[in-house]
Amino acid sequence: MTPTQWLEVHPYLRPLGDLAAEVDRAAAGIHGLEARVPDWEDYRADFLAGVPLLSSSAAAVDLEPGGRMAEAIVERLAAETSSEMLAVELRALHAELRRGDTVPRGIADFLLGDAALAPPSAGLLRYLGWTAMARFLRPVVSAYGAWRDEERWLRRYCPTCGSLPAMAQLTGVEPGRLRLLSCGCCGTRWQFKRTGCPFCEVDSQRLASVTVDGEAGLRIDHCESCGGYLKTYDGQGDETLLLSDWSSLHLDLVAHDRGLKKLAASLYDFEPAHP
Ligand SMILES: [Zn+2]
Ligand SMILES: [Zn+2]
Repeated sequence: MTPTQWLEVHPYLRPLGDLAAEVDRAAAGIHGLEARVPDWEDYRADFLAGVPLLSSSAAAVDLEPGGRMAEAIVERLAAETSSEMLAVELRALHAELRRGDTVPRGIADFLLGDAALAPPSAGLLRYLGWTAMARFLRPVVSAYGAWRDEERWLRRYCPTCGSLPAMAQLTGVEPGRLRLLSCGCCGTRWQFKRTGCPFCEVDSQRLASVTVDGEAGLRIDHCESCGGYLKTYDGQGDETLLLSDWSSLHLDLVAHDRGLKKLAASLYDFEPAHP
């Protein structure tokens, strides 16, 4: 399944699909830097204590170059986006960022939740910033996935950046079927309990599931204790598209109409137009 095919069937997602494609093109056009993979032994104690990798001073992953990439994406899009509305917002954001003197570091801290930087269009900066940072972190996320003992994490927040999941994925076949949580920020996927709720951490059979007509592979799992829901991709092979979050925003509307609570961490917090 390609984004083009997906958008033919879901034309109401086109504005978001076009935006995602434009941001990806801008990201591909900037000078890419790669985060240095830490020495895992330095990090082991923090890992076992539940400290996300990027918050660990022992692992000391330097995020400043990722912040530089984020700034470059904002600058590039401000100069060349075809959307007039977005261009105005991007120029204001870029101008504000340029007033600071430690911009790359400030963006990196902002992405990890530090409130020192309070830019206009914070949601846009979070989205563009994480797009850049996820690219920067790819070698680290990949090496961390190979090193990490999933059974020793099983926490509700991302082992890399500490965010709550944006989505979930079911992989494999019984009896080895696994539930993974998917981070919408840094792109990490990690293992979680099959029946537990990642929001209120109730571990029971009180997870219910809603399927949507014509959406084979995607469903909404929700918790009967806290009312939180998590969009879930039940399959393998189309992770890039189906775990992108924007490609299933119509499921958020279905969940919203059923009175379920969006507790997932989404970079697409703006309300899409109703299909
Ligand atoms: Zn993450
Ligand atoms: Zn819950």
